[in-house]
Amino acid sequence: MSCSEDCCGGIDFTQTPVADLYGTNCFSNAVMRQLLPKNIYKEIVTVQNGEKELTLEVAEVVAAAMRDWAISKGASHYTHIFQPLTGLTAEKHDSFIAPTGDGKVIMEFSGKELIKGEPDASSFPSGGLRATFEARGYTAWDVTSPAFLKQDPTGTTLAIPTAFISYYGQALDEKVPLLKSIDALSKQAVRVLKALGNTTATRVFTTVGPEQEYFLVDKSFYDRRPDLILTGRTVFGVLPAKGQEMEDHYFGAIKERVAVFMRELNYELWKVGIPAKTQHNEVAPNQFEIAPIYANSTAAVDNNQFVMETIRNVARRHGMEGLLHEKPFAGVNGSGKHNNWSMATDDGVNLFDPGENPESNARFLLFATAVVEAVDRYALLLRSSVATSANDHRLGANEAPPAIVSIFFGGPLTEILDNIAEGKASGASTAGQKIKIGVTSLPQLPKDVSDRNRTSPFAFTGNKFEFRMVGSSQSIAAPNTYLNAAVAQILSEYAEKLEKASDVNQTIQAIIKESYSKHRKVVFNGNGYTDEWVREAERRGLPNVKNAVDALTVLTRSETIALFETHKILTKEETESRYHIYLEKYSKQINIEAGVTTDLARREIFPAVSSYCAELARDASALAAIHAVSAPQEKRAKKIAELSNELYEETGKLEAVLAEAQGVEEAFAQAKAYFEKVRPAMDGVRSKADALEKLVSKEAWPFPGYEDLLFKL
Ligand code: ADP
Ligand code: MG
Repeated sequence: MSCSEDCCGGIDFTQTPVADLYGTNCFSNAVMRQLLPKNIYKEIVTVQNGEKELTLEVAEVVAAAMRDWAISKGASHYTHIFQPLTGLTAEKHDSFIAPTGDGKVIMEFSGKELIKGEPDASSFPSGGLRATFEARGYTAWDVTSPAFLKQDPTGTTLAIPTAFISYYGQALDEKVPLLKSIDALSKQAVRVLKALGNTTATRVFTTVGPEQEYFLVDKSFYDRRPDLILTGRTVFGVLPAKGQEMEDHYFGAIKERVAVFMRELNYELWKVGIPAKTQHNEVAPNQFEIAPIYANSTAAVDNNQFVMETIRNVARRHGMEGLLHEKPFAGVNGSGKHNNWSMATDDGVNLFDPGENPESNARFLLFATAVVEAVDRYALLLRSSVATSANDHRLGANEAPPAIVSIFFGGPLTEILDNIAEGKASGASTAGQKIKIGVTSLPQLPKDVSDRNRTSPFAFTGNKFEFRMVGSSQSIAAPNTYLNAAVAQILSEYAEKLEKASDVNQTIQAIIKESYSKHRKVVFNGNGYTDEWVREAERRGLPNVKNAVDALTVLTRSETIALFETHKILTKEETESRYHIYLEKYSKQINIEAGVTTDLARREIFPAVSSYCAELARDASALAAIHAVSAPQEKRAKKIAELSNELYEETGKLEAVLAEAQGVEEAFAQAKAYFEKVRPAMDGVRSKADALEKLVSKEAWPFPGYEDLLFKL
């Protein structure tokens, strides 16, 4: 497929209607239902629902169908895709060929190859779980997330979403704990539902719809910015006269070049069955957002990885580069990923839908209270799920949710819950009237239960919660895993009480009252970006962990380890290994950034600035020779010389602390050294370089500046 015919300008939805195109490259349940014998399809569905394990016999049949389907669509290779703890997607490709001994091949793909892959895993982080001599790691087919075809302009590969485990069965990826957390949450939620009298729900799913923000920059500028290429963000750069203060980009008309890119992005996503729905300009110049319609959370996690990859691939086809970093540019909005999350039963009920009758009201209030308690008790854990060096530039900074985890409910709901907590008229509120449920009563919920709040890190938005601290470049697996785990724990405690209750309705009310009273301190409906809130949160005793290194330490706490062990999500060893991997990743990231900073300062900025300064000095003396005014040139040359001297010194300081940090052995101490010493030293270099950029002519500056990167497309 060449993109000039089939996509880009060539996409013609009158020729290929979207509804016909949608999902053509996805081995979805609809496709399986069509291609598999009835009994095999049924079996797969029971495996997807976690009721049965996959057998090799069934896998053989599915593999054959998958192979024929993929080959008929031009595939030559297959790959198990997985998410090692680098946060990226990993894949190893194998072709379907099997030699027949007579110089020819046939195309083969067995059940075993479908359900189990064996990539050489020695180079992936294991945090000490796996010594290199036992390098074997296995990828196992994740039946809950559909296989799909990855297409590039010249070929097609069958991609099979998998989980990645070590030889001894330990989780080496983001997927295994996610799947386990979904099981755990389902188990506890079903217990609660049973106690509430629901006899039909057998499983509860989590649904996730991530809103993905990103920047686009022209490739010709990008290619001349080694910092963007190597670190994903600019380590130098100053805003031009026009920044984002005009607020004219948000929801503005989409430029044609970007619209063409977005059309092709949708086209690629729709083909693999990713329901791309919303797209718009974001707050910062050249910043955009794409949001698909929500899906079950494993598919949503895999889809989001593919969305990020596709943004970058499609951008390149259009002479642009997609930036997924949380803070590519200083001084303008960073990029996040709003993780919309809800729980739904297999009998079709969204548990965060307030509903219209007394039973659904009670259920809603109970589950919503469980989330309040989970967010309060596990605030540090949720904070740690978004703790990366890149996200440190966002959290706590101006335009992003603060590093304090709080929950927004909006006025009406908060009033109802407050009333219940205070035992006022069983929660009757100005927002609604009382409604009888058995002998006790809970309030009727108002129609539109929540207003809007853009500053809350965890907001209830009508029938779902939106976790907004998530960084744009990170996998959404861990945030969802931790959230599921936290809510599972609270629900298990509720279930204990409900199962023993002689009067369920009374117990529901008692649980809500007790739990909400104790945890309502985490509810905050005001403006989360203000200093007053920071002080108020401190008064309430809510943690405010402003850096990733400290945020990660929650993974070493006994209550965290117990949470994951109780719900069989991660063993103690696995949790500890993750802690080390995340710390190492943090250190490595800053190490690269610091390296790029010194390199650019020494080898590009310093020489360029010296030449420019010498040129000014020559101009000044030439002007002086004819008795013309030479003071401006002289003054500027002096200022530049002074700043370049300071740049030189600051770079030396950075090199010294960098060498020191590199020498630290222990992972936490090392990450701390990078955070406390190396980052400030980088800022020191940057401030000098940025001051110089403002004084040096545009032609003399060694790489394109923010004006080119942010305003030209
Ligand atoms: P908002 O305007 O509150 O951001 P949208 O309707 O635009 O809400 O949805 C934002 C994202 O939330 C979309 O990806 C959407 O599919 C997702 N979403 C909606 N309902 C749910 C749900 N029940 N569970 C998970 N995600 C959901
Ligand atoms: Mg948004």
